Order: sequence, then structure tokens, then C-alpha cells
Amino acid sequence: MKTNELREAYLKFFESKNCVRRPSDVLVPQDDPTVLFTPAGMNQFKNQFLGIGQLDFTRATTCQKCLRTGDIGNVGVTAYHHTFFEMLGNFSFGDYFKREAIHWAWEFLTDSNWLGLKPERLTVTVYLDDEEAAGIWHNEIGLPLDRITREDERENFWPAEAPSKGPDGVCGPCSEIYYHPPGGGKEVEIWNLVFTQFNRVGDPPDNLRPLPKKNIDTGMGLERTAAVLQGVESNYEIDILRPLCENVGEILETSYQFDGKTGRAIRRITDHARACTFAIHEGVSPGSKEESYIIRLLLRRAFLEGYLLGQKQPFVYQVVPAIVDMMSQPYPELKQTLANVQDTIRAEEENFLGTIERGLGKFEKLVEVAKSSNRKSLPGKEVFDLHQTDGFILDLTFSLAADQGLSIDMEGFRAAETKHKTDSGKGISWGVMAAGPLDELQKSQGETKFLAYEGVTSEAVVVG
Ligand code: ATP
Ligand code: MG
Ligand code: MG
Ligand code: MG
Repeated sequence: MKTNELREAYLKFFESKNCVRRPSDVLVPQDDPTVLFTPAGMNQFKNQFLGIGQLDFTRATTCQKCLRTGDIGNVGVTAYHHTFFEMLGNFSFGDYFKREAIHWAWEFLTDSNWLGLKPERLTVTVYLDDEEAAGIWHNEIGLPLDRITREDERENFWPAEAPSKGPDGVCGPCSEIYYHPPGGGKEVEIWNLVFTQFNRVGDPPDNLRPLPKKNIDTGMGLERTAAVLQGVESNYEIDILRPLCENVGEILETSYQFDGKTGRAIRRITDHARACTFAIHEGVSPGSKEESYIIRLLLRRAFLEGYLLGQKQPFVYQVVPAIVDMMSQPYPELKQTLANVQDTIRAEEENFLGTIERGLGKFEKLVEVAKSSNRKSLPGKEVFDLHQTDGFILDLTFSLAADQGLSIDMEGFRAAETKHKTDSGKGISWGVMAAGPLDELQKSQGETKFLAYEGVTSEAVVVG
């Protein structure tokens, strides 16, 4: 099944369950102070889940454009993470609940009229004490107990804090569905069913009050499920992404192979170019704050990957026509901004080109010195200098350092930043990097934000 067919099949299936098909919300929400980019399908329905505002329907289904900055470190590394991806969802606002959500997910996945996956390839997780969900999976769906795993709040509660500790507000357990590929490859999480059934108020005991109207919020990864259906080993091999990787390979005058030595770099370039195409289409330009900073980071990282493979001229902008072409069936509007998106990307590449050689030289020297003296981190003062004068913005250096197994001395970085602020009499702003659930961050916590590069969250800092 082609990816475009899967998207349509999902929406049709849930329409047959009386869910109203709604369009994707924007990728860059303007009136939501809590996120830079839409991280999940439920984002556009947050108010309804909180009981604020009424829609004229109680069941919905969407295919949502998402961007998760917290997954930047996973891109190209795992087979199943992107920054930009599409999430298929079905939602109930005080209407159907756990039983229907589980039965319908199973029907869509396994019924031969729909995806027809073999039941024995699927396992599920449930929250520790969610007997109701475990009971439905076991007694009604017929899943053997050894294919139902209990997970704690890190995996199976939303928001991902222990029910006794998390923030006030709606919350609940979830149940994730995993596919196990034939041949013993690593299983992949394809669908998360979230049962928002409590209002959490104050401290335990008795702080989880059952909601009078319980909600359903589910998210299925479009690219992951397409990879399962197409029998390929990575999301990047599916029909809408493999041709883009090949296109990047051609532009770089190398051939793309999943396991080839340029495979990871090409997947990163492909992912980042796709994310930037969608964000710039919505009006974000690369810059030093918030969404703009993330787009700058993604573009510089993509350009650097190609630069390291010998492409010394702007090239990321050349990938845009193929991206627009691949994504044009669901998002024909991308065609209208193609030229502008290309110009914006090209200008940013040219901008970075001016300092990249010098910055790379400095960065490589720092790595060499750190490794030869057995240090695990790069000195903050020099990293700040790279940030300030060479276009190697902090998170870019973070991600390059992480590839080398190194972190950054953030104390030194902060000291250098404070000194610079004092010397120049002005503040510095950069945006937000967020790991995992921290995608939902306060946008307006002051002019300078914090960094939390995946894998180095212990180094996460509030800058400024
Ligand atoms: P993972 O544990 O693999 O990072 P997740 O638990 O963070 O996934 P959810 O927040 O539950 O993901 O999102 C719902 C679904 O969206 C996932 O089951 C998966 O299919 C898909 N998904 C999540 N993150 C990504 C991503 N970065 N790229 C592609 N698909 C994703
Ligand atoms: Mg998960
Ligand atoms: Mg999940
Ligand atoms: Mg994740």
C-alpha cells in the first residue's frame, strides 16, 4: 500500500466510525504559546480536551503535519524518527472511549479490508494498573497475556509523569501498539492510544478524579506504518521518502544506499530539507529565535552534512522541487511557495558558507584537543565563540559534538555569554531546543531559552 493510500484509508476507516474528517492544523501554530511546532495530532484539540470551547462534533479524525525538535538527534540514526512527519489520529471528546478505541485500532490494523496485518506480529503495552485496557486486549481482542506488557509512566502515561506527581489537568494512561517485523528485526511503535480519563488536582491520594466525559486521543505514525506495509527496513525507504534520498544522492553526486557510508547524512539532509520546506512555506525564515532558530539549525546541519561530503556550494535548495512533488497530493499548496522556499534556503546556505570553513576548522581542533586529552566535553568559551562569530550556533555544535561522543561545558559557555552580554550591553537570543515531551515548552519565558539536545539532557541549561 502506498503512503498516500494509507493516509486516505485511515481517514475513511474512521469516517465509517462517524468521526468527522478535519484538515491538518498548521505546523507553526500562531496562537499557542506552549509549542513552537505542532508536535501531535491532538494539539489542535487541546482546548476541547480541557473542556474549554465546544465543537459541533464529538468524534474527529485527522492527518496532522508534525515537527518534533526533540527528535533531531534521532534523525538518520534510528530507522523510524523524523523531525517532520505526519500523524494519523482519531479523537473522541466525551464520546466513545477505551473499548471502541482499542477495537477499532485492531480492526483497522488486522482486518483484510483495511491493513490486513498478521495479528501475531503485533504486541501492545498498557499502563501498570490499567486493568481495563489490559482486559479489553486480552479478553475481547484475544491477545495472549505474554503479548501485553505493562509499562510505567515514562512510556504509558500522558503527560509522562507519574500520576501522583504530574501537573494538574487532564491526563490518563495510554496503550501503545508495536509491530514486530518478520526475520527478527527490531520492533517499532506504530500507534499510541491515549485515554484521557482523569482530571489531576493537587496531591495524592485521591488527586486523580475521573472525568465525567472521557476522551480519546490517538496517534499513528504515517511513515512508520507505511514502512511496515511496504516491508522496508526504515521509514526512509518508503515510496514518498526513498526517491527524495535518491534525489539528494544525485545532487551530491553519490548514490544513496541505506547502509552506505553516506546513508545517514543523506537521510538527515532529506529529513531536514522536508521539515524546512513545510515550515518556510508557512512563513518561518531562518533566524536567531524560536521557530526561526530551529529552521536555521536544521538548514545548517543539512548543509554541513553535504559540505562534509564534498559539496561546497549551496545545494539543499535544489531538493525542494522533489519534496514539493512528493508531498503535493495531500499538500498541493506547497507549489505556490516553491520559489520562495528555495530562495530562502539558498540565502541561508550562502550566509553560512561565508563562515563554515573557519568554523569547521575550529570545531575539529576542539575535538582533537578534547580527545587527545581524554576530555568528554568541549570548552564552553570556544563553543560560545563558534556560536557568536562562526555561524556554528550552539545546538549545531551540540549535535556535531554528540556524534563524536562529546558534550559541551555549559558552565563555561554561560560564563562567556554573560561576559559578552556585559561587554556589548545587549542580550543574546536563541530559541528553544526540546527533547521528547518537552516539545511542549513555554514560548515566552523570557528572551533567552534553553537547550536540551537529545541524549545530553543532563547538560540541559537555561541560558540567560
Ligand atoms: P518513540 O517512542 O518511537 O519516540 P513516541 O512514543 O515518542 O515514539 P508518540 O508521542 O506516542 O511517539 O506519537 C504517536 C506516534 O507517532 C508514534 O507511535 C509513532 O508512530 C509516531 N511518531 C512519533 N515520533 C515520531 C517521529 N519523530 N518520526 C516519525 N514518527 C513518529
Ligand atoms: Mg514511545
Ligand atoms: Mg508513544
Ligand atoms: Mg519519541
